[in-house]
Amino acid sequence: MILLVDDDAMVRLLATEVLISSGFEVMECPDGEHALEMFDQHEFSLVLLDVNMTGIDGFEVCRAIRGRPHGRRVPIIMLTGMDDTVSIDRAYSLGATDFVTKPLNWTLLVYRVRYALRAAATVADLEVSERRLAVAQRVARLGGWVWHIDEDRCERSEICLDLWGDTQPAAQAVPFGFLSRVLSPDRPHLREAMERARSGDAYQMSFRVQRGDGSVVTLYEQALPVRDEFGRVVRIEGVTQDVTERELAAERIRFLAYHDSLTGLANRQMFREMLDHALARSGRIGARCALLYLDLDRLKRINDSFGHTLGDQILREVASRLIGSVRSADFVGREGVDPDEVVARLGGDEFTVLLTDLARPEDAARVATRICEELCRPLQVAHVELVVTASLGIALYPENGTDAEALLRHADMAMYAAKQRGRNTFEFFTEAMQQQALERLSLEQDLAHALDAGEFSLHYQPQVDAASSRIVSAEALLRWTHPERGNVSPVQFIPVAEETGFIVPLSEWVVLTACRQIAQWRESGGPVVPVAINLSAINFRSDSLLPVIVHALESTGIPPELLHVELTESAVMHEPENALEKLKALKALGLKLSIDDFGTGYSSLSTLKQFPIDLLKIDRSFVRDLPDDASDGSIVEAILAMAQALGLGVVAEGVETEAQREFLAQRRCGLMQGYLFARPLPADQFLQRLEADG
Ligand code: C2E
Ligand code: MG
Ligand code: MG
Repeated sequence: MILLVDDDAMVRLLATEVLISSGFEVMECPDGEHALEMFDQHEFSLVLLDVNMTGIDGFEVCRAIRGRPHGRRVPIIMLTGMDDTVSIDRAYSLGATDFVTKPLNWTLLVYRVRYALRAAATVADLEVSERRLAVAQRVARLGGWVWHIDEDRCERSEICLDLWGDTQPAAQAVPFGFLSRVLSPDRPHLREAMERARSGDAYQMSFRVQRGDGSVVTLYEQALPVRDEFGRVVRIEGVTQDVTERELAAERIRFLAYHDSLTGLANRQMFREMLDHALARSGRIGARCALLYLDLDRLKRINDSFGHTLGDQILREVASRLIGSVRSADFVGREGVDPDEVVARLGGDEFTVLLTDLARPEDAARVATRICEELCRPLQVAHVELVVTASLGIALYPENGTDAEALLRHADMAMYAAKQRGRNTFEFFTEAMQQQALERLSLEQDLAHALDAGEFSLHYQPQVDAASSRIVSAEALLRWTHPERGNVSPVQFIPVAEETGFIVPLSEWVVLTACRQIAQWRESGGPVVPVAINLSAINFRSDSLLPVIVHALESTGIPPELLHVELTESAVMHEPENALEKLKALKALGLKLSIDDFGTGYSSLSTLKQFPIDLLKIDRSFVRDLPDDASDGSIVEAILAMAQALGLGVVAEGVETEAQREFLAQRRCGLMQGYLFARPLPADQFLQRLEADG
């Protein structure tokens, strides 16, 4: 809509006619007062304004329009007399956009109007993008500035002032003046950069600034010197950006890369770097270090029984106790050694502590003792009181190794030895351990070939009915006859097989061999009892378990009720969902399931109840001291009562004496297994026993 203001009715009539026929909308008005009223009531994209009018003249109207907020940008074309340069000048000075002379050339008028409208639109666009830029700069916390060299004055944008926390535009207009607000470690660098900029070098750098309100921000500044035609630096133009948050994020990323997110301790990466550094330094000054390698005892069992949330809480508590123990070790309290830095979590339940500048090896033992004591204190997490102990291994620099790799390996070996010795203790690395580790390595290698070499066999230990003493079932127990070592106990090689994954093919062999044995007994027409095989947690997690059992049953054609499976509590409690699914599948095949070594884990009855279990096997350790040990006695009684309530069968393991048998029989323990009845026997001898029994 165009507003046409002219006191000449003829001009109004003709102009309106021309403009409308060119596609514009027009409102006309004969005098200044009305013109302003209309301007306030409607929105106009352009004003055509006669200069000479009675009452308020065109100049006044133009000034008034420009004085209004909505009138600042509207194009105003003044209609003046021919060659009236004074009017034209005046019109421009009052903010007119353009002028056309009277008498009006109608074609020209239309062009002028179009041109003015287009120009206004472009300006409007520019303003929008300028505004957007300003917004973007504000969001990016980016402010511009110019340093005028000759005047030694700095002109800074509003955002720039804001970045420095200044409210007064005048504040610190002297370029070097605001250096005082830069934190002192960064100040000399910025000063130098500024001085160099004055002689023509661009710079970009970040520095920290204490703002007016006391807060500290990190600013990133880019500066570019601008020269005149003689090559003299006349000003420096720059932008400054607040990068505090970006820095924080970067710091956080750096922190995460070098720290364990659960405990906040140094992670393996950081520990390795620190260790390398410490060893290099110790080598130079001839100092001694100790590397403590710590592994929590039975954390896995706690995780399996109580869940990972609780396990995590325990790890955090352990971390803080470790730091506490190291801090209180007086010689570590030396200046420059931060306990938070020398304690690391390598992963899982493994921690390391690095002690530098050790006077005597005994000092490492002192710290290790303190750590053991600290960790021993009962720990309260989520309404559960637990005791978590640790086993520690210590390797000394330079005695036990001169590089990080060797020290870590040796401390780990020593830790392993501490575990073997009964946990909650520490061991120094010895050459004998090295020997043992080598030994274990060769065991691993031998194990890998033992299956193909046919060195394994299954022995069968009878399980007898307590009332009748008749053999009702058998447990298949693995035997390894090594060509040089002789008989190697499963207690020794099963854990190795589990660690190397060899347990998977080994168990497949056990399943198939047991099934074949049962099939053979059936074919020979003699008595047959179900055979229980042992599976470890690894088997239970493996996807091949079910297919292997199905295949063994099918290929041998034995009825599934002749195969029992023994699982330890931890195999079941680790990932209970997966366990439940697998147990159900085994159950659906028609197998009977027992929980082996029952009572040594943390599994609760309520959890067990959900599983389709048939039997509990009371662990040997509870039977051993029966009937004298009162507490073992009551544990056994409790297990029996509970099993009865749940409708589960019970097998007591390791029954060696008549007194034990009697104690158990009196409390209605249904099944027993142990040397009292028979040792694990080779298949043929077992068959003889079975036939004699029948
Ligand atoms: P387990 O399943 O608890 O097996 C019972 C262990 O107790 C066997 O030891 C057996 O010989 C022993 N034992 C039986 N009666 C008595 C007794 O009256 N007194 C004493 N002191 N011990 C008795 P073994 O054969 O050395 O096996 C040890 C463990 O090795 C087994 O404990 C089982 O966890 C594991 N194992 C054995 N064979 C296999 C297998 O084929 N697969 C897997 N995954 N583990 C196996
Ligand atoms: Mg067993
Ligand atoms: Mg057992």
